[in-house]
Amino acid sequence: MRTEIVIASNNLHKIREFRAILKSVINIDITSLLNFPDYTPPEELGATFEENAKLKAEHAAKTLGKWVIADDSGLVVPALKGDPGVRSRRYAGNDATDSENRKKLLKEMKALNEMQRDAYYECFLVLANPEGIKKSVRGVCEGTIIQEEKGCYGFGYDSIFRKHEYNDTFAQLEDSIKNRISHRKKAVEKILPTLETI
Ligand code: IMP
Repeated sequence: MRTEIVIASNNLHKIREFRAILKSVINIDITSLLNFPDYTPPEELGATFEENAKLKAEHAAKTLGKWVIADDSGLVVPALKGDPGVRSRRYAGNDATDSENRKKLLKEMKALNEMQRDAYYECFLVLANPEGIKKSVRGVCEGTIIQEEKGCYGFGYDSIFRKHEYNDTFAQLEDSIKNRISHRKKAVEKILPTLETI
């Protein structure tokens, strides 16, 4: 029997990446919050990716009465005390665009040396059904923030993020490559064994 799993996100980029990464799991049908326009997600009031992902997963699973996967993700720069962190989407203001967020980050990092430009993407994933949380996992992808934007694929901070041991930013790599090495892929890999049993 096939099970429906709702990706608890309205972010088209994330939904597309999850679909691509999860396509090998044959017994699930993937939908997203775009299929439930009347559903209002909870406010992301958590102090960590983990707290926010759990909040989103439990709320969506209970309200929709379905299996869901929720993620909370973002970019962490240790030299900036963890910023943009859980505020990655709203770094330059509540309604900021991805471009405004990138510009603000480049400005904040202007005076930093090469080593201080280390950063990592984090993705915290939570699988839940209406009874509660079934599994939670974390995936990270380490790299560096370059000085200027390069590339046009991806979203968010991809055009200024270069994974260690790569010459290109995430926005210069084709989607199929990013989806093999990203923080999201690493988290999904850890949740797959549980997904395949439902
Ligand atoms: P969320 O929707 O609250 O989890 O916020 C996610 C935010 O983190 C996005 O809006 C981006 O700014 C950033 N982010 C998360 N994952 C990625 C990625 O794979 N590439 C680029 N930016 C990302």
